[in-house]
Amino acid sequence: MKKPSLAIAGLTACSGCQLTLFNCEDELREILERFEVAYFPMGQSDPDPKRHYDVALVEGAVSTPGDLSALFHFRNASRLLIAFGTCALHGGIAAQKNRSTPRPALLREVYGDRAPQLESFPPAPFKNFVSVDAAITGCPPEKGDLLRLLGAVLAGTLPAFPSYPVCLEC
Ligand code: SF4
Repeated sequence: MKKPSLAIAGLTACSGCQLTLFNCEDELREILERFEVAYFPMGQSDPDPKRHYDVALVEGAVSTPGDLSALFHFRNASRLLIAFGTCALHGGIAAQKNRSTPRPALLREVYGDRAPQLESFPPAPFKNFVSVDAAITGCPPEKGDLLRLLGAVLAGTLPAFPSYPVCLEC
């Protein structure tokens, strides 16, 4: 039987959600036996970005034109698009500044006169731009939730996860 192809990628994010896959140390071999990891820049030296995927796990907020273009790509190229983690689901850390100081002032505060000219807009979650098929919340998501999602994909279903902003204890 053909293995489902898997993409794991990030937009504006810290990559912590993607690292959850590497935290599945005991299960990693079985995951690799059951899925074809087709696109995973964090773990591949030469990923092919032009493929179609059965499942795309994408982390991060949308905060640049490049992010938006990548999100549209993964939406169009994937049978199932999963919002992977709090940044993808709620905007996360990047979106926290939306309610405070405007970005140009923040850039000036951090970089002074050498503030870079960045093409960006207020960081936002995926739902502002595309439909998603499922979401795993958490910052980063729990390993068990990722395994449950992958198991459900193999079974032809999708689990519903409770939505919380950062962690279950918060
Ligand atoms: Fe990093 Fe948390 Fe955002 Fe995941 S949800 S990319 S761990 S800040």
